[in-house]
Amino acid sequence: MASGLITESDLVLPTLRALVKNADAGVSTTELQLLLREEMKPQGEDLALLEGRGDDKFSQKVRNLKSHDRLERDGLADFADGRYHLTPAGKSFIEKFGGIDESYSAQGFPENDKKEALRPEFEYTFIEEGSSSHVSRTVRQRSKRLREYALKFFADKDGRISCEGCGFEGSTAYGKVALGLIEIHHKKPVAVHGTSKKPLKEAIKDLSPLCPTCHRLVHFKKGTVMSIEELKKTIADA
Ligand SMILES: [Zn+2]
Ligand SMILES: [Zn+2]
Repeated sequence: MASGLITESDLVLPTLRALVKNADAGVSTTELQLLLREEMKPQGEDLALLEGRGDDKFSQKVRNLKSHDRLERDGLADFADGRYHLTPAGKSFIEKFGGIDESYSAQGFPENDKKEALRPEFEYTFIEEGSSSHVSRTVRQRSKRLREYALKFFADKDGRISCEGCGFEGSTAYGKVALGLIEIHHKKPVAVHGTSKKPLKEAIKDLSPLCPTCHRLVHFKKGTVMSIEELKKTIADA
């Protein structure tokens, strides 16, 4: 975790993963605590002991998942006889979003943007190529579709695609062999509402074609992502 502090939302996907692994027996809150602790490795403030209690802030956050009915509210899990069980909606949520949270962290997206993109009602979410090996096949296929769509969308009639930062265009620099050499960057975590009629058209607004160098630069500083405006200004000021 970049900030060191784990939020209640951060617990959702790891909890669902724990429920997938314990599909038959379900998981009690005590077991969940241990499983999440092992996976998420809380540190700093999260390990601070609560006044007058034997446990720390992290345990409190896990307990709050239940007291706030965080998973039940979205229909992702049921709680019965002291144990959480995964619902079919929870299972499909994991298939759609599993691995994406890590991938978005690796891309440097801020917490709020991540939260915004990981909601059960979203049907499509996309990730950048090579940003995570943990995502499900469904996500990879959807991301690939978006990428292909974006490449067509950004290309001119001759197949040339220019970098939105510096204007680099493959075939101008290297000749025919580099026609269409470009990377598709996600300015924001891309998520599209399930009921949207044109999810790809909708998603394209959050994408930008960048040459490999500019793309490296916007992700160069760990934990943040440079905006296209900043990128252009950086180039202009150099
Ligand atoms: Zn560029
Ligand atoms: Zn990017």
